[in-house]
Amino acid sequence: MTAKPLLANLEEAIAPYRETASGLFLDIDGTLSEIVPLPHEATISPAIRAAVATLASRLELVCIVTGRPAANGKRMVGLEQLTYVGNHGMEWIQEGNVFTDRTAAPYAADVERALEAVKQQCGRTDAIIEEKACSFAVHYRNSADPQAIEHMALEAIEKQDGCRVRVLTGKAHINVLPPVTLNKGTAVRSLVESHRLGWALIAGDDVTDIDAFREARDLASTSGFRCTNVAVLGEDCPEGLLELADYTLGSVGEMEGFLTWWAHTP
Ligand SMILES: [Mg+2]
Repeated sequence: MTAKPLLANLEEAIAPYRETASGLFLDIDGTLSEIVPLPHEATISPAIRAAVATLASRLELVCIVTGRPAANGKRMVGLEQLTYVGNHGMEWIQEGNVFTDRTAAPYAADVERALEAVKQQCGRTDAIIEEKACSFAVHYRNSADPQAIEHMALEAIEKQDGCRVRVLTGKAHINVLPPVTLNKGTAVRSLVESHRLGWALIAGDDVTDIDAFREARDLASTSGFRCTNVAVLGEDCPEGLLELADYTLGSVGEMEGFLTWWAHTP
């Protein structure tokens, strides 16, 4: 099935929300905020913030699902009333406190070891190493030789005998995480079930959002739940994401247009 442009099919895309308990799952980087060279410089526009706040007052659940630490995502979005899942499904915030899934804890030393090895190997290059508590990322979007950095980082990790981590490759960065079976998809599934959602719209732009799209489709095929997957196209949109998308948005700017329209639609 080919994904349709969302802005040309607005009413159709959100129609289920008038009939059932509905959810909205949003990635941050590349979905709500433009991708920038330094992750800490990314921002969310006031228009997106306002639209998401309005939708949170109407929908059963609005959840931010990000690779950033949950607290960092919350600070960036700046809305108290949302649910936040961070570190690719391993962290969440409840009553103001950050919790890390206990299955991730036994691998803290392994992640730390991989981090030290990558720092040693890539510390003097133009790579940006983002430390995220239970995981870390190596960014090379603006590196002179991105492939060399990726190779260097992966090699540094591989050399660590018995180091129990998993590596997820995203757009111009790699994520290094505990080897647990938690991801954006497991987060979406558990929230759809705990909130008894009849429908959800899920938006993302990168490889780790594929898990969320896939899990939503799986749920939809085995229950009365329905999902609408929206891929935000930036540079090099992963093919696997497009394959599972129902609709596409061309940019973060189009996402702002869509959310603003929805927030103003009764
Ligand atoms: Mg993203």
